[in-house]
Amino acid sequence: MERDTCNACGSNKIMQDVKIVDFAHGNQRKDLSVHIQKTDNIIFNKFEKGALKAKICGSCGKVELSVNNPQDLWEAHLKNKSL
Ligand SMILES: [Zn+2]
Repeated sequence: MERDTCNACGSNKIMQDVKIVDFAHGNQRKDLSVHIQKTDNIIFNKFEKGALKAKICGSCGKVELSVNNPQDLWEAHLKNKSL
């Protein structure tokens, strides 16, 4: 498990796995995420998607971002490079 202390100020007021959302039209919430293209099909491209989650310090406000599926994204990245 990750340490529950802030890298910047050493505080232990850490909020783990906070979802980052974007408010689209009509206040519809959407998870902010990264996309990596997997195919070079012009009509229909496949993407690997990784939802961002944040670790936030409740003392100094430092935010660290991470994804749940780094392995999937890395494989998509390698495929993307070989297109
Ligand atoms: Zn801090």
